[in-house]
Amino acid sequence: MTLPPATHRCDVAIAGGGPVGLTLALGLARRGIDVVLADAAAPPGEGPTDSRAYFIAYGCWRIFRALGLEEQLLPHAEPVLQVEAEGRLGGISFIAEECAEPSLGYMIEGSALAAALHAAASLDANIRLLSRARIDAVTFSPLEARLVAGEHVIAARLVVGCDGARSQVREAAKLRFEGHDYDAAALSTTLALAKPHNGVARQIFLPRGPMAVLPLTGNRANLIWTERAKIAGALAGLDDGEFERELAKTAGDFVPGARVAGPRHVFPLRLRVAERFDGHRVALAGDAAHVIHPLAGQGLNLGLKDVAALVDVIAEAGRVGLDIGAASALAAYTTWRRADVAATAAAMEGFARAFTAPLPVRLAAGAAMAAAGNVPGARKLFAREAGGELGDVPTLMAATRP
Ligand SMILES: Cc1cc2nc3c(=O)[nH]c(=O)nc-3n(C[C@H](O)[C@H](O)[C@H](O)COP(=O)(O)OP(=O)(O)OC[C@H]3O[C@@H](n4cnc5c(N)ncnc54)[C@H](O)[C@@H]3O)c2cc1C
Repeated sequence: MTLPPATHRCDVAIAGGGPVGLTLALGLARRGIDVVLADAAAPPGEGPTDSRAYFIAYGCWRIFRALGLEEQLLPHAEPVLQVEAEGRLGGISFIAEECAEPSLGYMIEGSALAAALHAAASLDANIRLLSRARIDAVTFSPLEARLVAGEHVIAARLVVGCDGARSQVREAAKLRFEGHDYDAAALSTTLALAKPHNGVARQIFLPRGPMAVLPLTGNRANLIWTERAKIAGALAGLDDGEFERELAKTAGDFVPGARVAGPRHVFPLRLRVAERFDGHRVALAGDAAHVIHPLAGQGLNLGLKDVAALVDVIAEAGRVGLDIGAASALAAYTTWRRADVAATAAAMEGFARAFTAPLPVRLAAGAAMAAAGNVPGARKLFAREAGGELGDVPTLMAATRP
């Protein structure tokens, strides 16, 4: 006999339990909003992990602090004290003194972040977590949104799609996702460094794309090597020794003596932004709403800023007695977030194109970066922008003491 599906009723259903979905669940729950989150994957530690590590800008780190997670995260987080990016003719560097916190932000491995967020969400009485629950249908009616995930049915006043670049929720809501694919992929892995990194995040622009070496705890680093997709695939298939030799050949003395210290994963690169981030009984956050080039490590930062803005929009709508799933209550969210996302996406697009363009364009771009790097005001602006501090600051990102 087949049992009838279990129906979970809640205020907000979250599709996807990546870093954005879990942070949103915690942000809403702490405002007393009842949440059900369904994620296709196994809980952290029970399934495969990927090698990504994230630069979390100090403005976005405040969200984790506000949610009471800083103590759990800090042992796994490396403070980033300086960022250096170099083109052929020049570069830009900014240091922690140019922002309002002791560091520009932190580098943290995705697996450590997922474990801390998942543990906190599991303990929160306002959150019901469903793992291994792939959503295969999303429907909208005048009064509710419904998600079907295997034997689970979730009925909510609002569904938030945090289900990544291939979002089912976005598809079901018929929100266009516009942009293009780069003829490039990013290879990510962990390196054990031969020299101390001293908290410096470094990036160089090679002819086929940027390469970044980002500091991790224990004098390790996250390597992000952008290449043509076929070459990145071939690099991933080499044994560790061959890979280290290719790295030394391509990057010269950028990472001298570095040894492979983790698995390699390859990610196709895209630029896509949704036409709107909200609709009737639906909102999108994180990669479901926008995917950008990982250069400058801003993708998740944008997603965390979505979370902070959306928590304010939903909580305020609830507070004044509006229907939290009504398009009229949610429109403020797209207005708040889309311009920032579009500006960041355009900046990343400009850098990615300029530094893989023919030589004269690369030289001009290098010269422009060198010029900006020499102007203290411009450096400060870059530091604050990279820190996620420009524009209207939502409650979760308001400055708090470390
Ligand atoms: C190489 C690389 C390096 C990067 N480095 C940085 C960085 O330093 N800093 C930074 O800010 N950003 C960085 N990014 C970007 C960052 O990885 C993404 O922006 C971030 O992962 C988005 O998080 P998310 O939760 O929105 O989506 P995802 O991480 O894609 O999570 C989506 C979740 O949805 C679930 N899901 C999908 N479909 C379904 C379904 N049908 N039903 C249920 N669940 C579903 C998945 O299981 C997953 O848990 C990097 C990206 C790459 C490729």
